[in-house]
Order: sequence, then C-alpha cells, then structure tokens
Amino acid sequence: MEKNAKIYVAGHRGMVGSAIVRHLQQLGYSNIITRSSKEVDLRNQQQVFSFFEKEKPDYVFMAAARVGGIYANNTYRAEFLYDNLMIESNVIHASYLNKCKKLLFLGSSCIYPKMAPQPLKESYLLTGTLEYTNEPYAIAKIAGIKLCENYRLQYGCNFISVMPTNLYGPNDNYDLNKSHVLPALLRKIHTAKIKNIPTVEVWGSGTPLREFLHVDDLAEACLFLMENYHEAELVNIGTGTDISIKDLAMLIMKVADYKGEIKFDSSKPDGTPRKLMDVGKLKGLGWSPKITLEEGIKMVYKDVERMTFD
Ligand code: GDP
Repeated sequence: MEKNAKIYVAGHRGMVGSAIVRHLQQLGYSNIITRSSKEVDLRNQQQVFSFFEKEKPDYVFMAAARVGGIYANNTYRAEFLYDNLMIESNVIHASYLNKCKKLLFLGSSCIYPKMAPQPLKESYLLTGTLEYTNEPYAIAKIAGIKLCENYRLQYGCNFISVMPTNLYGPNDNYDLNKSHVLPALLRKIHTAKIKNIPTVEVWGSGTPLREFLHVDDLAEACLFLMENYHEAELVNIGTGTDISIKDLAMLIMKVADYKGEIKFDSSKPDGTPRKLMDVGKLKGLGWSPKITLEEGIKMVYKDVERMTFD
C-alpha cells in the first residue's frame, strides 16, 4: 500500500476499525477515508454504491459489522444475520464494481464448527454444525468469506478474509447485555471493588476456554496481511493460547486488586466449550502477537478506572 493510497476503513468507530485507523495513522498513511453509519448506512445498497462511486477507494478494510457478546448474539438473532449479510454484500460488491485493488474482510472464530478439533485450523470451515448461540452471526460471516473467495475466483478480485479470535482493547463495548466476557468482567470486577461488593457474578460454569487478542495486535496483523497475503483461503489471527473463563476472572481480579469471591450464574449459557485458533499459518507468514494477556488487561484496566458506570 502506497502511503498516499486511498484507504477506506469501514466501521471506524468500532473497536477494530478504530484500531486499524490508529495503526495506519501511526505508519504515516495520509489518505484514510471513513464514514459514520449516519452518513452512509452500509445496509443500504444505494447509499453504499453512491459512496463507492464517488470515492473509489484503492484499499478497503471491512471492519463494519453488527457485533456483540453471547447474550446479544442469541437475542438479536435476526438483526445479526440480516445486518451483517447486507453490510458485507454491499461493501464487497461495491468494491468489485469500483475496481478496488484489495479488500480485507474480518470474520470471527465462531465460524468454525462447535465440536471441531482444537486448535482450529482454517481447513475446518464448513465441516460441522455451528454453535447455536451465535449461529446467525457465524452464517453471515461465512457468507462474507465465500463472497471474497468467489469474487476472487470469478472476477479476479484480490479480496482476502481474516478470522480474529476474541478481541479486547480501546473502544470496546461495556454494556453488560451486549459486551463480550472480558470487558463485562472488567466492568463488574471494577464496580464490585469500588463499591465494596463481596461477590462478582460470572455467567455460566466458568469452564469454557477462550483465547484473547489485544486489538492493537490485530490491527498490526491486518496491515501485515493486507501487504503480504493474496490468497483465497482465510487466515486465523490469534495468540495460540487460551484460558478458562474462571481463570480469566481471577486474572482480572488480580490486576484490579479485588479480593472478593466469584459467584457463577448457571442460568446463563456457556456457549461453545472451546475455540482456540491454530495460528501456524500466520506465524509461517511471519507475524506473531506482542501484547501478553496480562499486559493487555493492565492497559485496558487503566481506561476502565477512568470510566463511570451506573
Ligand atoms: P462467546 O465467546 O461468543 O461465547 O462470547 P462471550 O465473550 O460473550 O462469552 C464467553 C464466555 O464467557 C461464555 O461462556 C459466557 O457465558 C462467559 N461469561 C461469563 N461472564 C460473562 C459476562 O458477564 N458477560 C459475557 N458476555 N460473557 C460472560
């Protein structure tokens, strides 16, 4: 990517899009274009097509999506499917029509079958049944991967797909009904600490295993792949190590210096038992993450200490 290339980051207000913009700016890219959802509603084909016709971006980072944690995914099932299908179809087709040089599509580790062998290799896509709680989101993301793959095959578009593991970092969502586990536990543990509440509620059994990547590492990996990867098959982006939800809660309690007890709420779902990425392919291409989970949690906890929650 030339430093003055026109780069459109879709979803620049979200955690992933904002990290990609920060990283591009740090590296001196000078022609980054963004639009808020009020300016261009990516679900609306006409608005997306007019925007692309006018701007004709050279490169597109597809970080726009309707996202959320286990509760939001399982509750707003129709919205997660419809919104994501529309956003992806419109942006990918508009990129093809306007001869975009390269597009990077962001998926998610939930595209892999619930009972797939671990760690999850890229080749396990479409080899089994999905986890029910996030099936609509996963189906939409699989459609996005297949759009990129088939626009490459039929039209020769240089569109690639990357699958990040669970992410956290600046601009995360701390709404307890919509957030993922890491920001939710940061908020709950911090609140319990400052209000002297003796217990903190953790959903499910605490036994599911999850892998966490700081979004600054993700942004670096996305730029690396935009420059160095030009093939149809998806690429996993993760750390290659996972942690149980209980141990994650204990690590956050240590960082926050909270001395209370964990109370498990078994009325809430566990979701998929484990989703650890196989990151051999990305490592082989020459990229590895830099921020350890403890360092990353310390970094975001500094932000959380400055926030006010109800
Ligand atoms: P998932 O990775 O798609 O399952 O999404 P989440 O990050 O929302 O949830 C991961 C795991 O953490 C699940 O087993 C949840 O039940 C568990 N968990 C524990 N406490 C919480 C919480 O307060 N919020 C969320 N979102 N998940 C929690």
